Amino acid sequence: MRTDQARIVVLGKQGSGKGTQCELLADHFGLVHLATGDLLRAAVRDRTPLGRRAQALMENGELVSDDLVFALLDEELRRAAGRGFSLDGVPRTLAQARALDRHLGDHGLDAAVELDVPGDLVMRRMATRRVCPTCGTLTTAPDPAVATVPCQRCDGTAVARPDDTVDAIARRLALYEEETRPVLDWYEERRLLVRVDGDGDPEEVFGRVLASLEVQLSPAPSPR
Ligand code: AMP
Repeated sequence: MRTDQARIVVLGKQGSGKGTQCELLADHFGLVHLATGDLLRAAVRDRTPLGRRAQALMENGELVSDDLVFALLDEELRRAAGRGFSLDGVPRTLAQARALDRHLGDHGLDAAVELDVPGDLVMRRMATRRVCPTCGTLTTAPDPAVATVPCQRCDGTAVARPDDTVDAIARRLALYEEETRPVLDWYEERRLLVRVDGDGDPEEVFGRVLASLEVQLSPAPSPR
């Protein structure tokens, strides 16, 4: 299989580094990086009808309905037709995993990467995560009490996400356990799941992701 055609989803708790690893995968293999959270945040920022319906749910750490998520995703997947992709933020439920499967048709997913990171570490990462509202670049604050930091890419100021509050974080982590954990088992049954230790700096974790994918993406030996 050509690796620039690879279809990969990256799963993991909020703050596990899905966005960073999806971006590194996209650069490395020449894939399109699609993140449902980013698509929804853009819709909220642009005050589209869909964004208005999603905004309060997102701020409270709740899941947005499947029809809204797939309305955005379908369009992006159509635009990416013929190219591989790294998907970040979806599927979050078994219903979404099945819907994605139906959508992809004959050439389904090639791998589902789970970034395994302990709960206390993701809490720490989310408490110091700052995002630039202008260009979307993520920056880490030196301390949870530091509310804003200069963006490293543009001249904007990175701030905490509106859903990185204590209550919304707790809700999102609970939803991950209830709704997303079964998706991991579903992919494991389909021999698509690749578990990677997500504790470490991004390059170190990416090395592990690539090593695991090398096995998952290489064609199975043909029977003699
Ligand atoms: P994320 O950037 O992936 O953490 O997503 C931010 C928020 O967007 C989530 O807490 C949900 O409210 C919403 N969201 C993103 N992706 C999905 C999805 N696949 N299904 C439902 N809601 C989603």
